[in-house]
Formats: sequence, C-alpha cells, structure tokens
Amino acid sequence: MRLKISIAALGLLLASTSFASAASCGNTAQGFAGFLAGVKQQAAQQGVNGEALAQLDQVQYDPAIIKRDRAQNVFSQSFLQFAGRMASDFRVTHGRELIAKYKDVFDRAQKQYGVPAPVITAFWALETDFGADIGKSPTIQALLTLGWDCRRPEKFRPQIIPALMLVQNGDLSPDEMRGAWAGEIGQTQFMAYDYNDSAVDFDGDGKRNLRDSIPDVIGSTANLLKKSGWVAGQPWLQEVQVPESLPWDQADLAISLPRAQWVKWGVTGVGGKALKGDKVTAALLLPMGKDGPAFLAYGNFTKAYLKWNESLVYSTTAAYLATRIAGAGKVSPGRGAVTPLDFKSIVALQNILAAKGYDIGKPDGKIGAGTRAAVKAEQIKAGLPADSYPTADLLAHLQGG
Ligand code: CA
Repeated sequence: MRLKISIAALGLLLASTSFASAASCGNTAQGFAGFLAGVKQQAAQQGVNGEALAQLDQVQYDPAIIKRDRAQNVFSQSFLQFAGRMASDFRVTHGRELIAKYKDVFDRAQKQYGVPAPVITAFWALETDFGADIGKSPTIQALLTLGWDCRRPEKFRPQIIPALMLVQNGDLSPDEMRGAWAGEIGQTQFMAYDYNDSAVDFDGDGKRNLRDSIPDVIGSTANLLKKSGWVAGQPWLQEVQVPESLPWDQADLAISLPRAQWVKWGVTGVGGKALKGDKVTAALLLPMGKDGPAFLAYGNFTKAYLKWNESLVYSTTAAYLATRIAGAGKVSPGRGAVTPLDFKSIVALQNILAAKGYDIGKPDGKIGAGTRAAVKAEQIKAGLPADSYPTADLLAHLQGG
C-alpha cells in the first residue's frame, strides 16, 4: 500500500536515458513489447547480466495489476476511520511483545541509526502485520507493468534496474522476487530502489534479506528513516488539545513554530497537561480540521514520515501507532464529531478548486497537500476558520458561488 519514492530515485530518473525518460507509455498491452526491449537494452548497458537479466524474459504485461491500481484508494478514508482500523489494539500489544523479543536488535538499530523501536515497529505492523502478509505478486512484472502504464510511470521506471540488481547481487533469488501488487518487497515493503540503496545486512549472513531476516528488516528500516532525515533523540508526534480561539491558519504542516508559541496560544498536552514552553519547533497537525484530533508534528514527522508515504492519513496513522506502542493513550476524536466528506464530494471539491486554478494534482478523492493548501486559501477568502480541512459547508459555499 505504500509508495514512497526518494528524491535520489527521481534524480536517477531524470539523469537516465531511453526507457526511463521516454515519453511513451500505454494503458494496454499494445507497445509493451517495445518498452520491455528498451528496458532490457538499458539494463544490459548498466551491467545487469546472466540470470538477473534473464528475469526480463519472463515478464508479461499484467492487466490484473492495472485493475488493482485503478481501484478506489483506502487513503480517501478520514484519519479516524483509517487509524481506527489500522492502529489496532492487537498491533499495539504484539508490537510491544516483538520489541521485547528482539530487544538486542532494536537497541543496536537505535544506537546505529537513532530511530526508536516503536517507530520501526509501527511501520512493520502497518505494512505487513509484522511480516505475515508480504504478498506473492511477481515484483519485476509489477514494476514493468506499472512502468509502462501512463498513470505514474515516473514512480516505477527507476525501480526496475535496482530490482534486477537485487538478483544480480544475490540479496534475493529470482523466486524470492515477489511481494505486494505494486512492487513493494519484504516485511516493511521497500520499493526496489530503496532496497538496493538502503537495506543493510544486520544479521551478518552476507545477504540483505527483507523477506525472512527480522534483524535485516529492523536495521534496514532504521537506516532508510535515518537517510530520510530522522534526527536521534527528537520526538515525532504528540497528541495535544487546542483551544477554540487558536489562529487556525497557523495549523499547517508548512509552518513550524517553537513550542513556547503553541503554549502561549493555549495548546496543552492530553488532559490539559502543560507542554514544555521551549524552542523545540513543531507544526500543528489537524488531520480532520479544528474540531478533530490534534497533534504537534515535529521535524521527524515532517521529514521522515512524509517521505515514507506522501499520504497524510497513512503517515499520521503510522506516527500515531508508534506513539501508542511507546505508551501513549488512544487518540481523542476532538471537540466535536467531524463528518468527513465522502469520496465523491472530495472529487467534486477538487474539480471546483482545479477550475479556480489551484494546483491540486489530479482530482483523486484524497486530501493531499495541494488540496489542503487550496482549501485554506478559499477558507481565508470566505472568512471561515482556515484549518485547511474541507467540510460540507465549504463545498456548499463554493458550489453556490
Ligand atoms: Ca542478512
């Protein structure tokens, strides 16, 4: 379910030639054979050979993958819906058990990469239920099919040669090149570029095996987070309470302020407990607007979490589950019941915003950073509290005007 793409992978895409930067793509099998031939040629040029290169001979265009890709995405759910299902009590309890069981490995990962055990464990839980569901789809076929497809080839083409390199380097056998339908591999669902670039052999057997070696999974996940900007000893997410009088336009992931400022505006910890009024900076994250749950999102959230997955609902849930595993209580739904817009209403809103000239990407029913920024601008225009969260009132206002 995760699709993270590193800046480095994008750089590779821009720098590379032929298939990676080719404009051609297709929404059917027509033309796929030519694309595959181009991939094979470039892989050979980049040093892929033998058994690894031969993997491309088995690949076919797979319409079932495209069908999965077009299905309505779970990230159109609200934070409370998604977190309610995904940050389950079982995952909290079992996560803590696994941290105790693998204490030495987690301690070594924290010492080496600075990432605490609950953070790693929450991703392990969300991605595959601690390795129980790593998927059986052929990875290279998935990457080629989605790399040919026109919806977002730029995310998949840079993964293809790194996937072949995993076979070539002996990290995974051809039979082990299986995983989630969109090409993610192993217990924390790495895309091939990140696997090749950031996985570490943490059990010392000479292979980086994110399918079967729990130490390799723990060390590699910590290393990837560190490479994404994780800072040791710093928090990531903290639930807070916010007063009705807050300047709501300051609640924006792009605005980080010292905790002292949030304290001045009346933000407190859970149960009204005083926050430290110091210089540590954080953004105020309101995943369902001013009347829903509230969090301070620290630098580790705005850097490492949002790089892992660009969906705010997923990232907030992963960070929240990590706080639960670390001992925090269940999130409060906030000051009042928030009724999230349904999928069709979000798409309708996005179409209106796009027509007004906002860059919201494709109207996809997911409330991403672009949609939030556009909503905030329209809330300010309408004199509404500018918390960046779209409501039925805002949609009605925009449809009326
Ligand atoms: Ca290993």
